[in-house]
Amino acid sequence: TCSDALRETRSTCSYCGVGCGVIIESRGATITGVRGDPDHPANFGRLCTKGSTLHLTARPEVTQQTRLLQPQLRLQRQASPLALDWDSALDLASQRLADVVQRHGPNALGFYLSGQLLTEDYYVFNKLVKGLLGSNNLDTNSRLCMSSAVAGYKITLGADAPPASYTDVDHAHCLFISGSNTAWAHPILFRRIEDAKRARPELKIVVIDPRRTDTVELADLHLALQPGTDVMLYHGMLHLMLRQGWTQPAYIAAHTHGFEALVEQVRDCTPERTAQVCGISVEDLLEATRLFATSPATLSLYCQGLNQSSSGTDKNAALINLHLATGQIGRPGAAPFSLTGQPNAMGGREVGGLSNLLSAHRDLANPVHRAEVAALWGVPDVPSVPGKSAVEMFEAAADGEIKALWIACTNPAQSLPDQATVRRALERAEFVVLQEAFATTATAAYADLLLPATTWGEKTGTVTNSERRISRVRAATPPSGEARHDWAIGVALAQRLEARLRPGQASLFPYDTQDALRGTEAIWNEHRESTRGRDLDITGLSYALLDAQGPQQWPWPSGASQGKERLYEDGVFPTPDGKARFHSTTYHPVAEARDEAYPFSLNTGRLRDQWHGMSRTGTLGRLFGHVAEPAVQVNPQDLARLGWEDGALVRVRSRRGQVVLPVQASAEQGPQQVFIAMHWGQEFLGGHDEAGQALTGVNALLPSAYCPRSKQPELKHAAVQLEAA
Ligand code: SF4
Repeated sequence: TCSDALRETRSTCSYCGVGCGVIIESRGATITGVRGDPDHPANFGRLCTKGSTLHLTARPEVTQQTRLLQPQLRLQRQASPLALDWDSALDLASQRLADVVQRHGPNALGFYLSGQLLTEDYYVFNKLVKGLLGSNNLDTNSRLCMSSAVAGYKITLGADAPPASYTDVDHAHCLFISGSNTAWAHPILFRRIEDAKRARPELKIVVIDPRRTDTVELADLHLALQPGTDVMLYHGMLHLMLRQGWTQPAYIAAHTHGFEALVEQVRDCTPERTAQVCGISVEDLLEATRLFATSPATLSLYCQGLNQSSSGTDKNAALINLHLATGQIGRPGAAPFSLTGQPNAMGGREVGGLSNLLSAHRDLANPVHRAEVAALWGVPDVPSVPGKSAVEMFEAAADGEIKALWIACTNPAQSLPDQATVRRALERAEFVVLQEAFATTATAAYADLLLPATTWGEKTGTVTNSERRISRVRAATPPSGEARHDWAIGVALAQRLEARLRPGQASLFPYDTQDALRGTEAIWNEHRESTRGRDLDITGLSYALLDAQGPQQWPWPSGASQGKERLYEDGVFPTPDGKARFHSTTYHPVAEARDEAYPFSLNTGRLRDQWHGMSRTGTLGRLFGHVAEPAVQVNPQDLARLGWEDGALVRVRSRRGQVVLPVQASAEQGPQQVFIAMHWGQEFLGGHDEAGQALTGVNALLPSAYCPRSKQPELKHAAVQLEAA
């Protein structure tokens, strides 16, 4: 029949910040296949194991098991939720939120969103919270992912804009990969790196990582530094560059400020001291420095090893310092290039979807910026007080300051550190709403109201990948069950709140929720207008242009004929005087150092074939072929010293709790370092905190220490002890 005809829909992979294009094959309302889009510049037809199995996660037999398909209400905590209709659910939600606002003010609400949301989803919620409700208590799980990269760029280069493109891999003579297992976390970008190395064996690859990961297999030089010592390493490299005459004084004089203070800062970071602190050899330090500084073009690729740290901003900025000092920026193959973890962490940043940001890279602290956004939204003002960041928001809810939590498309009960606090927050809040595609997440158990959201294959809108490229996301099938689009849920809530908070006035949310394409295009056009004159100006782009010419990079101002492949080629930075700034900072060790009681460093990270808390990838048996079950990986010599067999059950205990899981000998780990993948949830055996409460996921063992500037938690390091279980 006609409805069974094969349809092909161009869209984007929903997993990671590489942002690969996909072609979704569907028949009727069923997705039947997926393949890489040969015309998408992020992947040219390639997909990794996760992307190439997306269609299997959308099979009806899977979605019936995993998806949230209708609104549900818990009349009491711990009770089974009961189905209710959308109007009743939204009426209830708006009434409860308005009630909290009336009793305690808008800052008693906390909205916690996700880097998985599309730009249009983000835009609506940002406007709802900051424009309509008058609070900045909106943060997202991008806080756990990219906020240190944001702060690092802004403090040095002046704007949150990754300066490079994937094509720079082909121009680089040295790839300097820091704190990133690119081979597993950004597989299709890694294919490009492998191609470049094959085509040009003289391309030098330096990997900085405490672990000997798959990425290291391709490296010419691996610096297995001690966890958290990155700032010391970069300072030591700058010390050496100065000693060897490898800096570029002409570039520094013409395009930067603050070098003298930094030179003073690194004066005592001698090679011997640096090597000792970082646990590397002086020879390797010298070689890494030589390759970075003297290669014709050096491209840094970096990710969570730098970001998820109590000194995340400093790590990012100290690396960017090296690019500025050597002029390794603004040329083909030469730039600092942060890799985004989530598929649309970039889009979220663009619309200002963090508690300290405003639309189009504007700052809350800037009164001119606040006035511009208020004028764009047609509201009297936007509050100036920064809202609560992710960890702060849940701490405030645990303390009773935040009374209601609205959580969209993320799973804080598994992903945030210090789970005892998160659990207290979810239990103490008067009202918890979870807007989610999946019914199976740990957070779902705490929600009073569950609102079913659409997901990949059903959604319409845009995302931005690591290289500033905006791609369309297109729906291949109608929503499952009664699921609604995230932005449309936001609009429906906002319109109900408007009726209470500003009755009789024209709606600030006049978007067509019946027609997803019209609705999202109107939202996107409003977002586009907010970028006029900003560093990410996209006033020359449109849905029509993206449809006709494919995904494009920003900026693309009105009148331009193309986007920018590379930023700062003219040496002018988006600062008041056009000059970049060196960031002078001291090295601080990890928040929780190893000691006699807790003698091991716990590191966490991704597996190749899993994503986040596995709500999607965990539905496919074949994705467990690579790694089938959780384990704690331990250096073989440590294992021999402890006298344990591979596979023995071991208790891993931090100051916040403990989990039991099999031990695995792994030469990837350095001495006194252990690794547990971040994805596993309730699979841990007997995991519980000191109060005996069950734990979900490894982040429960981690401290809630965070970078004071970016507020990004230190999810890469905790001190732990091991004992036979
Ligand atoms: Fe999807 Fe990332 Fe794999 Fe590309 S590399 S297919 S975006 S998970």
